[in-house]
Amino acid sequence: MPHNYCPSPLEICMLFVTSEMHPFIKTGGLADVSSALPAALQRMGVEVKVLLPAYRQVKTKLPHARPICTLPDMRGEEKVVIRETFIEETGVTVLLVDYPAYYDRPGGPYQDEHGQDWHDNLMRFALLSKCAALLAGHASPLDWHPSLVHCNDWQTGLTPAYLHFWEHRHIKSVMTIHNLAYQGIFPSWGVTDVGLPESAYGLHGVEYYGNFSLLKAGLNYADHITTVSPTYAQEIQTDELGFGMQGLLQHRQLQLTGIVNGIDVRDWCPANDHNIPAPFSLHNLPDKALNKAALQRRMGLEVRDEVLLIGAISRLAHQKGLDVLLQVLPRLLEQPVQLALLGSGEQALEQGYRHLAAQYPGKVAAHIGFDESLSHLIEAGADVFAMPSRFEPCGLNQMYSMRYGTPPIVNATGGLADTVVDAQPDTIANGLATGFVFAPLNEDTLHSALLRALSLRQDKTSWEQLQRNGMNRDFSWDKSAAQYVRLYQDLLRT
Ligand code: ADP
Repeated sequence: MPHNYCPSPLEICMLFVTSEMHPFIKTGGLADVSSALPAALQRMGVEVKVLLPAYRQVKTKLPHARPICTLPDMRGEEKVVIRETFIEETGVTVLLVDYPAYYDRPGGPYQDEHGQDWHDNLMRFALLSKCAALLAGHASPLDWHPSLVHCNDWQTGLTPAYLHFWEHRHIKSVMTIHNLAYQGIFPSWGVTDVGLPESAYGLHGVEYYGNFSLLKAGLNYADHITTVSPTYAQEIQTDELGFGMQGLLQHRQLQLTGIVNGIDVRDWCPANDHNIPAPFSLHNLPDKALNKAALQRRMGLEVRDEVLLIGAISRLAHQKGLDVLLQVLPRLLEQPVQLALLGSGEQALEQGYRHLAAQYPGKVAAHIGFDESLSHLIEAGADVFAMPSRFEPCGLNQMYSMRYGTPPIVNATGGLADTVVDAQPDTIANGLATGFVFAPLNEDTLHSALLRALSLRQDKTSWEQLQRNGMNRDFSWDKSAAQYVRLYQDLLRT
């Protein structure tokens, strides 16, 4: 191969390792990225296989995945079955790690039905990482050899470490941080249990303040680190948002790139969305109001067009800042405003929103749970979408909402700062404004951003311009996938 040879996308084979993938298993944005990015890469000519645990829900949805090989489990017994299935719509192949003792159980991918972390998460995700390393490594039983491995979040963080310690040939890996707040922290004795040498436990290895961090393993041993927006790539190098990893990330800043997520524009297309009663586009924008009425009816809100209907769909976690919205709402509800919230998570927040809905019947509706179809109707039916996140690596809902003519109201952090342009007279006039951006996050700033939205909505022309600006933006994966391809090419350049 000539010196400085750069492979074309067609020559890149990639193993994409993830713990969730839409539509098979989803707790958050990682699932959306894990289905849309491989599909976009595949369209660009990269050959992608996605490796995913065969959770019970996944097996039910992919019953025909056929066994293609076996691999050793964490005890070294040849009991893990790798199954393969081809996804027609995207051209992506999915490989499942079928090991019922770890994955075939009720509850979620990380927690049981009561929200408790599975006690054996260390071994469950060490196994996923191990299978990835074995499939990419010299002793793989497959005749398919990936040119690199793309890992996602702590659940796959051990893969680069295994490749580092087990392989003589250097196999390149990329580690993507979708949310640095989740680091896969386990007791230090786990290091040897998962098959790493004791020497891996140290400041420049997998040790994290006296514990063992799977994410840190990935951040240390991967060839390159990416995260899901340029602003977040900067923020995670600071004391405020580095969650203890800022030193390591500063040290690796030349191998750290922020690439903003795209969205699946086929799944999230207001003109062609079977979840909403009145599909609409730029050509029949007034039909959006039919979805608003449907949403109001479905959630038990008063059916009134003149009120500002605020939508919110989120994990109810401190990160998302919805506690601040909860504080602001009683003040705001003196105005012609309604709230439609969909989410689940921390009990105090669930109770807080249930309580508010009981206090303001017809004005506040809270659906506690996970509901894919309702999430589409909220995006389509709400007037504005609230995302007052304390930090947000990228965020997807703000992009969905812009696409559905629902200007987002966001704190200027991470991917929210990178994807939403504040509505000011000049940015509205020049076609750039797409929502309402405020900072820092507190009750007053959020309150005044909401009031700004309420007031701008009275100006029908400016409001429609704002909606159109958002709907015209290109949030498809193509641009971001092209950046990933360039990154892979740089890594694989000889
Ligand atoms: P995060 O990954 O931090 O949860 P993102 O905005 O990146 O946040 O992605 C969240 C994804 O999960 C979006 O697709 C959002 O619509 C979806 N989601 C979150 N909570 C719910 C819910 N209760 N019901 C339906 N979809 C939800």
